[in-house]
Amino acid sequence: MKNLKPYKDDCFVVHKSAVDKKHAGDLKNRLLIINPLVQLQYDLYSDNFDKNTIGLITPSTTFSKSKDDLLTLYNYQSKVIRDVRENIKKLQIKTIISTCQNCTIDSANSLDHILPKADYPEYVVNPKNLFPCCTTCNSYKLDTIEDDSGQKFINLYLDTLPNTQYLFLDIFKDLDEDLNFKYYLNNINNSIPAVFFKVIENHYNRLRLFERFKLKSIEYVSELESKISAFRRRLTVEEIISDLTTAALEEKNAYGDNHWKCILELSLINSSLFMEKFK
Ligand SMILES: [Zn+2]
Repeated sequence: MKNLKPYKDDCFVVHKSAVDKKHAGDLKNRLLIINPLVQLQYDLYSDNFDKNTIGLITPSTTFSKSKDDLLTLYNYQSKVIRDVRENIKKLQIKTIISTCQNCTIDSANSLDHILPKADYPEYVVNPKNLFPCCTTCNSYKLDTIEDDSGQKFINLYLDTLPNTQYLFLDIFKDLDEDLNFKYYLNNINNSIPAVFFKVIENHYNRLRLFERFKLKSIEYVSELESKISAFRRRLTVEEIISDLTTAALEEKNAYGDNHWKCILELSLINSSLFMEKFK
């Protein structure tokens, strides 16, 4: 999981061009009338974004009658949104941008509305409110961004990820003698402030990441087994462990300290339950 850099250009320009692209007629006229009000909301969003307090923005009743009109501005495939996607993509490190950073499992082939468009239709095309995301994560994020348990998800534009390991893995054998995996979070030495660690916990639980990592891990075991078997023809087990450790640490550097696959690889090659078959 890595932080993404947020859109840098004027966000309201995107809203204006989405309105301009509409065919002349009643819908466009209604949208043009509310442009100044939307602009005020964009200013409010920007102020809160800069302070990382967008969770404090309450849904505005001003746009309740215009909601359906505003929602017509968003289309993932439209030129306006394609340009936003390209713009956001260009700002990021190439190795991570095609993968959803909310889960680091699936492709980022949709855009999450950080403040949900159902409650905040005025931000439906606001680039700072759009986060590249996979459809699975997006489907779990349909509701509000805060509740009694605090902030529900990590905002990877704004919440700086700690440079410390908080995702861990236990490997064990289940009743069928198959390898099984239990991912969990641990705030070692309380090095992460408690409030933010709670956000991390909410994020992993609400996006069902432990279960999703586990399913991917079961798939990955046979892949790693074949890799080791191929190496085994010319290298000792110790040499293989050393090479794989170096590679996993490099990946950790590229994909984040808490990338599930790096943690999985390191745990597997250090697990006698997994390595016993290669001895
Ligand atoms: Zn995802």
